[in-house]
Amino acid sequence: MIIVVGAGPAGLAAAKSAASKGCQVTVIDSQPRGGGQYWRHLTAVSGYKSNRSAAYLKELQQNKLITHITGAQVWSAEKLGDGYQLNYLQAGVEKKISAQKIILTTGAYDRTLPFPGWTTSGVMTPGGAQSLLKGHGVVAGKAIVVSGTGPFLLPVATALAKSGAYVEIIEAQSPLRWALSPLALLLNPGKFPELMHYASAIVRLKIKVSFGSAVTEYHSGVAQVSKVRSDLSIRKKNIRNISADVVATGWGFLPDVTLGGILGCAQTLDRHETVVFEVDKEQRASAQNIWIAGEATGIGGADLALAEGAIAGLSATGSRIPAGLRWKRLTKRLFAKALQRSYPVGGGWQEWLRDETVICRCEEVSYQEIIESVQELGAEDARTSKLFTRAGMGLCQGRVCSRNVSDVVSGTTKCAVSRSERLAASNRPIAAPISLGVLGDGIAG
Ligand SMILES: Cc1cc2nc3c(=O)[nH]c(=O)nc-3n(C[C@H](O)[C@H](O)[C@H](O)COP(=O)(O)OP(=O)(O)OC[C@H]3O[C@@H](n4cnc5c(N)ncnc54)[C@H](O)[C@@H]3O)c2cc1C
Repeated sequence: MIIVVGAGPAGLAAAKSAASKGCQVTVIDSQPRGGGQYWRHLTAVSGYKSNRSAAYLKELQQNKLITHITGAQVWSAEKLGDGYQLNYLQAGVEKKISAQKIILTTGAYDRTLPFPGWTTSGVMTPGGAQSLLKGHGVVAGKAIVVSGTGPFLLPVATALAKSGAYVEIIEAQSPLRWALSPLALLLNPGKFPELMHYASAIVRLKIKVSFGSAVTEYHSGVAQVSKVRSDLSIRKKNIRNISADVVATGWGFLPDVTLGGILGCAQTLDRHETVVFEVDKEQRASAQNIWIAGEATGIGGADLALAEGAIAGLSATGSRIPAGLRWKRLTKRLFAKALQRSYPVGGGWQEWLRDETVICRCEEVSYQEIIESVQELGAEDARTSKLFTRAGMGLCQGRVCSRNVSDVVSGTTKCAVSRSERLAASNRPIAAPISLGVLGDGIAG
């Protein structure tokens, strides 16, 4: 039996290809429905080509070789003989499952950057706004600014506008950056119809788009927009104010590397110093009998996740990987690299901050407190700053802020963030909070 953690595109493709070779597969996911971040919402709004999901979800439900455990949050994992045991929480009860082989497809989550007002009501991530809409049919606001960087702003903005909101897109980077990646564009012709789909929707829905700009402050229903350089430093402050009851702001995604990290799978940094897993040509991780696929190995979109998942599933069953599948992964990886080149997230955002701007939301630690931990208490890295300020010690265990805390400390010491600090900041000993009561007797108190 193979366990697949994550029922997103990568996990679904892995399960499908492993089952096609006659192998029993158990897919486990914290969500009540399969599909992952992109495909799990069956209601209301459909995105471009999201109908691709139907065949995979049907396989998940109907293939007798595939068992789907839903609403199950894997909170820890351990080596057991020559296999692995995963410990998960389901409806408040702690359970265990083990197998000789596991495929991790744990995906990614929204990356946020702080700015004055980002903790006030009305500010959320584009993923949050999309989830409200697709999952519950709720339009987050009447006038919505969708800001940040990356192609993900497009499905979110068009879906919100289609549902009746007045929407503006504030994209930090210039579309001309795509000229840096001609080969990736040539090898991925399928992306042109997708671009045309969103371009025509933007025109039809009268969505105003600004490039080279960012929301650098939000207060009392007013988003202040500044012109920014490609490293996000301010070129011209507060050029324009937009009345908006919601600002949905996101800066791409961060891979969720927690579970593989607990199991000791080797990680590395991509060109933007984001922590990703190292895998071989067949998606094998450094730890024995573990395969990793999808966004956890680097952000690249659903098509890349599908190709990597299919390869991982075949490899885990000892099957041959067809050349066509390897070629598909190669072209999608080239596109993923082009995405990184086109939508970089530089450190210039620190210019947007005020002393009182909160950096760590869980522990309410301000920019000033982190600066003081360096200048007055002598912290030289984020770990020491964390000990002085508690930044990153709250419920999310630094998932949201740890990268930003490292960057603020480095911006103050003028020393680059070390590779080991980046890796340490993305890893934590448990994958999800669990109470001592549940740990003690396995049942929620
Ligand atoms: C919020 C958000 C919205 C997105 N919307 C779009 C969109 O509209 N259009 C688009 O093209 N792309 C979108 N993307 C990108 C798209 O989701 C990815 O390209 C694609 O889904 C990656 O597939 P994946 O299988 O690697 O990961 P995911 O789809 O992220 O799936 C990972 C799954 O693993 C599960 N998981 C993780 N850790 C655990 C654990 N410890 N225990 C149990 N389960 C766990 C998660 O619940 C999740 O279901 C979105 C991404 C995010 C983060």
